[in-house]
Amino acid sequence: MTQAIDATTHHHTHATFDKLKCKECGTEYELQAKHVCEMCFGPVEVTYDYDALRQRVSRETIEAGPNSIWRYRPFLPVQTDNPIDVGTGMTPLVNARRLARQLGLKKLYIKNDAVNMPTLSFKDRVVSVALTRARELGFSTVSCASTGNLANSTAAIAAHAGLDCCVFIPADLEAGKVLGTLIYNPTVMAVKGNYDQVNRLCSEVANTHGWGFVNINLRPYYSEGSKTLGFEVAEQLGWQLPDHIVAPLASGSLFTKIHKGFQEFIKVGLVDDKSVRFSGAQAEGCSPIASAFREGRDFITPVKPNTIAKSIAIGNPADGVYALDVARKTNGNIESVNDAEIIDGIKLLAETEGIFTETAGGTTIAVLKKLVEAGKIDPDETTVAYITGNGLKTQEAVQGYIGEPLTIEPKLDAFERALERSHTLGRLEWQQVLV
Ligand SMILES: *Cc1c(COP(=O)(O)O)cnc(C)c1O
Ligand SMILES: [Zn+2]
Repeated sequence: MTQAIDATTHHHTHATFDKLKCKECGTEYELQAKHVCEMCFGPVEVTYDYDALRQRVSRETIEAGPNSIWRYRPFLPVQTDNPIDVGTGMTPLVNARRLARQLGLKKLYIKNDAVNMPTLSFKDRVVSVALTRARELGFSTVSCASTGNLANSTAAIAAHAGLDCCVFIPADLEAGKVLGTLIYNPTVMAVKGNYDQVNRLCSEVANTHGWGFVNINLRPYYSEGSKTLGFEVAEQLGWQLPDHIVAPLASGSLFTKIHKGFQEFIKVGLVDDKSVRFSGAQAEGCSPIASAFREGRDFITPVKPNTIAKSIAIGNPADGVYALDVARKTNGNIESVNDAEIIDGIKLLAETEGIFTETAGGTTIAVLKKLVEAGKIDPDETTVAYITGNGLKTQEAVQGYIGEPLTIEPKLDAFERALERSHTLGRLEWQQVLV
């Protein structure tokens, strides 16, 4: 793999990433398309030259960069000065005053990746990095095992970059997620099985077809993209870290990489050292990490998912033990909520902040509420809740749980009568009048 060898000659390039290193046994590898250690089968991770980073990067150099994740390029595992930039990242950090008041918190922010570009989920971050790296490693066909959002991102960004694309999804995904992939015209394999079965199939295809699977053989590069969710929050808070974060857990990767992002900013002196508490959110119908946390176990027992929160329905989470470790060592928590609570979470965020999130975001808000009510988030803590996806993609989840339009004749008196009734009746009663 000549491209991998090029990538190691970083002394002559702008690269600040060094090598791949096993998270378990520490064995080091060249920067190739590899995700599992040959010695112990542990996951491998990208390492950086932090001394070089400290000298090269400052708040000013970052602020002068593009208005996208690529302002943090020296912290990302790519060499090129021309990454695939489709405007991913730098999503709003919303001061959520009304939701904070409702929950009894003093300072709450929503990191709103429901409006991330180009496909309205945080997955655009990891895919922008993975496909930029895939191109550097010489792949012409890219692929993924997806719970929905990843297929949207991979198909869209591959289209932009002119890469061939074949994505794998479970056959029972929400219509919006399927359509939001097909529109880019990739090959779509709808597998009759759950995500964990899709993932197993893709591991075999990766071994036989030589494709770049963003979350399998390119996973060490892909997962680094999630650090930008940590970087941006630190920068948007005025180069400070929050006290507590709440984020959803599927494989657990996003959660652990936000932590890595904060640690890296501390290491190179961009923010003051501070302990940030990390709390994770799962859906009860797929909560292997929350169960292990609750039971004090340091291993994950896989489950068969059954929840409306399909985007985070991974029964055998690859980074589960590392997510457990982050929650425990930061004095955080990992909680789960049921499907009814998830729907309430979606509605609560919409009604208080005007943000329509998908089921994963509903899970996060419901867990946030649960943790505050249990006294596990202090009202004085500056808290950030990560909203990772858009509600327009999972409309079926809330169908039947929201109001209806007041259908009227195009006449002023019809409007006045309808308005009168809408004032005198609660929304639920009004629905009963209609039927
Ligand atoms: C994939 C996904 C996650 C979680 O991702 P992991 O890194 O696998 O934990 C969270 N939210 C949404 C909307 C997702 O699509
Ligand atoms: Zn190893």
